[in-house]
Amino acid sequence: MAGRFQAPKGTFDVLPDESARRARIHTAAAELFARAGYGRIETPVFEDTELFERGVGASTDIVSKEMFTFEDLGGRSITLRPEATASICRAYVEHGMHKLPQPVKVWWWGPAFRYEAPQAGRFRQFNQIDVEAIGSDSPLVDAEQVIMLDELLRGLGIEGIRLRLSSLGTAESRAEYREELKSYLRAHESELSKEVRGRIDANPMRAFDADDDGTRAVMAQAPRMLDRLAEADAEHFAEVRRHLDGAGVEYELDGTLVRGLDYYTRTVFEFESDRLGAQSALGGGGRYDGLVAELGGPEAPGCGWAAGIERILLALPADGDEPGADVFVVAEDGQRGRALALAVELRRAGIAAGLDLANRSVKGQMKQANRTGAGLAVILEQDGGAQVRDMESGDQRSVDPGKLSEEIT
Ligand code: AMP
Repeated sequence: MAGRFQAPKGTFDVLPDESARRARIHTAAAELFARAGYGRIETPVFEDTELFERGVGASTDIVSKEMFTFEDLGGRSITLRPEATASICRAYVEHGMHKLPQPVKVWWWGPAFRYEAPQAGRFRQFNQIDVEAIGSDSPLVDAEQVIMLDELLRGLGIEGIRLRLSSLGTAESRAEYREELKSYLRAHESELSKEVRGRIDANPMRAFDADDDGTRAVMAQAPRMLDRLAEADAEHFAEVRRHLDGAGVEYELDGTLVRGLDYYTRTVFEFESDRLGAQSALGGGGRYDGLVAELGGPEAPGCGWAAGIERILLALPADGDEPGADVFVVAEDGQRGRALALAVELRRAGIAAGLDLANRSVKGQMKQANRTGAGLAVILEQDGGAQVRDMESGDQRSVDPGKLSEEIT
């Protein structure tokens, strides 16, 4: 027998049963973003590899070991996007969007790809929802975006939400801090994990993310960027916090929060839910004031976040989103063509109408009507007549076949 195929490791199929829950997130997000003045943007699934190397940062885990990179038939190095921000900044520059009224506010939804070890809530192809506002350094932008993600998650009914907030300062103040942190790490080198030791120079701040006890003990006493902010950065951060307080959004200040991407400046944040296991992050983001210029564009500060759809789905409370038919058309012998015509007519009138497509007996069709959750069954009789049956009460009455759709609509 020929071997059977499976979806590639770390990927999954979305079956019709699950798609209603996804659609609910999409609809909630689209409505929320539209109300906040964010327009939809779409970008290609793959980009030049260099965009991510420069945008996300060569020393990050994403770029150094998680990218799906290949050479296309024209000899170009191509990478399946591991995230959206770099692509959106590329589009901002490519389309001269700095000439539009600033900031340009966009949202994005689509698959992203990272070669990670799959586990619950972690995939190699996963879906993100993303918002970005480019062209303003106002703390109002940061606050507006944090509030949007908070509202989205709460509006979906997700519980046990925790928001961690920090500031990474600007590139200059961080450069000084990095030196201080490197010296500290070197002074404690023997207590650190091999991995952390290996990247003291390349990415010392990632040591805050380590989960081995030795490194954690060292990091508990390590100097924090949050205590080293330059005056303007501290004032910017204080203002973000004032706006969040004003909106009643609760957060924890967490100087150990370092996001896994290089481009962040000033505000960073992450939402988690205690309903998730080890992969507890629902979404996060922050400000990236240097990224657009880094990608060859004008000096345009930006801010954004991304949330994982599969993580949101895991945290979403169970609900009954049965799509269900409104009406099921049951055909007696010789009436199948009529059943199709009636179902099409009802659907045109906006009614969800089902019919048997598997040659079931009348009894079998009634069962099928039940399974689809239809409120009404219309029985098309052999003699040209019709009955309408209330599936819940069982009441059944004859109706004029010519007035069927009027009766039902
Ligand atoms: P990041 O772009 O790394 O900040 O990720 C933003 C969000 O995307 C995370 O908070 C997760 O919810 C989700 N995410 C990131 N990587 C994965 C993955 N490999 N599988 C599923 N979701 C992910």
